[in-house]
Amino acid sequence: MKTSPSCPLCHASAYPWPARSATLWRCPVCGLAWQPSMPDPENLWRAYAAQGYPPRRGPALSLAQWMQRRRADWIQRKFTAPDIPTSESPAAALEIGCGPGALLAGLQARGWQVIGVEAHWETASGARRRSRIPVMVAIAPDGWPRIRSGYRLVIFWHTLEHLLNPWDALQRAYDLLAAEGLLWLAVPNLASWQARIFQDRWLHLDLPRHIYHFTPQALRLALAQAGFRTVEISTGGLGYEIPGWLFSRWGEAKYRSWRNQPFGLESLALTLCAPPLYFLAILANRADAGANLIALAGK
Ligand SMILES: [Zn+2]
Repeated sequence: MKTSPSCPLCHASAYPWPARSATLWRCPVCGLAWQPSMPDPENLWRAYAAQGYPPRRGPALSLAQWMQRRRADWIQRKFTAPDIPTSESPAAALEIGCGPGALLAGLQARGWQVIGVEAHWETASGARRRSRIPVMVAIAPDGWPRIRSGYRLVIFWHTLEHLLNPWDALQRAYDLLAAEGLLWLAVPNLASWQARIFQDRWLHLDLPRHIYHFTPQALRLALAQAGFRTVEISTGGLGYEIPGWLFSRWGEAKYRSWRNQPFGLESLALTLCAPPLYFLAILANRADAGANLIALAGK
């Protein structure tokens, strides 16, 4: 490994942090961690295909779609709340890395004008066909669609950590938002209880697919540097929490088979282990130390 680089956010000198399949750089001040060299795009696509993500069929897809519909309800409630100023133009939402498109389809059904961006054409065409939403293929942020009035909502739902340059992405998201718009993003929380306990075995490190690994402090800094002035950070939800507790111990291969065959014998046995973990998950989220780090940021 080369001489120690500086943290891209706070410029502190990084130290090597050994994870199972690679040694990452980690910032001692804001806690950001990152891969020492950017993965080759060809290998990265293969790594995505091996993981079977985003889910394309079966119960994993149904569950993901159900959760996205609940998130669409939450957004709808949030934007009709009295603390968000209303706009003359129709509400438009852009999702970066929309996967199968269920969240945008949910928003479209609630009257939003939506557009998704995906890096991979096959996922994009699947989302267009299945969710009947417009999805464009773009990799670099300068290819993301601009609309005249600006978006009221830009979403990165577990996608920022996959990007080779999340800093440009946040800057572009800021530029695309309307004055009263909100950025809504979620990333795995490297400062969560489960990340601290499992360290290099933590399921949501998800190497090599996750390039950057955020703590609340690092995320707050990244958003401030992109220009966002109001930032609410919290942790929540069980969709990342429970698998993190269950499978950091049992390994990624078991997680994949649990996700793809949730009604198999082994998967059911593992699911039966889950109820005590719900209490742990609730406690972690109450302490803002859950695995799913959520930010809501405004201009
Ligand atoms: Zn730092």
